[in-house]
Amino acid sequence: MTDHRRNVYFFHKQDQDTNKQVGSLTQLAEKNGFTVVNQPSDANIIASVGGDGTFLQAVRKTNFRDDCLYVGITKKGKAHLYCDFNSDEHEKMVDAMTFEQIEVRKYPLIEVTVDQTSPFHCLNEVSIRSSIIKTFVMDVLIDDLHFETFRGDGMIISTPTGSTAYNKSVAGPVVDPLLPCMQVTDLASLNNNTYRTLGSPFVLGSERKLTLRVVQAGNEHPIIGLDNEALSTRNVKTIEIKLSDKKIKTVKLKDNSFWEKVKRTFL
Ligand code: NAP
Repeated sequence: MTDHRRNVYFFHKQDQDTNKQVGSLTQLAEKNGFTVVNQPSDANIIASVGGDGTFLQAVRKTNFRDDCLYVGITKKGKAHLYCDFNSDEHEKMVDAMTFEQIEVRKYPLIEVTVDQTSPFHCLNEVSIRSSIIKTFVMDVLIDDLHFETFRGDGMIISTPTGSTAYNKSVAGPVVDPLLPCMQVTDLASLNNNTYRTLGSPFVLGSERKLTLRVVQAGNEHPIIGLDNEALSTRNVKTIEIKLSDKKIKTVKLKDNSFWEKVKRTFL
């Protein structure tokens, strides 16, 4: 392994249990010639200690870096989609991290632009949901085609790795991350002679752009969720969504293909 992959930053929740776990992992890293750094910007390995929610935060809070390796470490006996190691698998971790030609898996990201401002990234999904008891209306465009007019609770647009999260709960397809694409699923769409959506989830290829235009009718109050964070903006008019050119990298191991993780987590 080259020197540039020896600085580790641990991202984790500050509770007694996790701090203890991180203490042991720090000792393990230092014993094996790694430097544990205090700032994520100094790291070339960012290790999230926790579950998938923590991993999503680790990636978001460190700005979706494509020049470092993200590693998910979870508790003994637990399985999570973004976690490749259990915290007691010391030998496996050291072997993987010290391997000369470490192989990486790349996960697609979604890029979201709200009202032509600077884009945001999402590793799981962007969700647009009504924040009040009433429905709201959006025109849905695929590239420049007006595809449908949606009225209902909202929509979820997910990445392949996010397809096992919120998307799966609303019967969206689970999609292999080897396919760079995004899944679009409705949240309780109304279907009548005025408002009609396709009514089934659909998958868009990497070259497509999805545009959601919120119809300003006076009762529109959608909130936008970027993975596990809400975007604090009101009166949103247009949301443009496409696959990002950027991908995040995680470690590739013998037993951690996406489908192995799906099986371990769900079956
Ligand atoms: P949370 O509401 O505390 O937990 C959501 C659950 O989803 C957790 O069990 C989490 O796993 C799991 N999860 C997150 N990403 C996943 C993935 N890619 N594949 C499979 N499971 C996944 O929120 P959170 O832990 O911060 O996670 C945020 C995510 O929750 C959002 O991005 C969204 O996908 C999801 N969510 C789901 C629903 C729903 O299903 N009805 C509603 C809102 C949000 P861990 O326990 O390992 O953290």
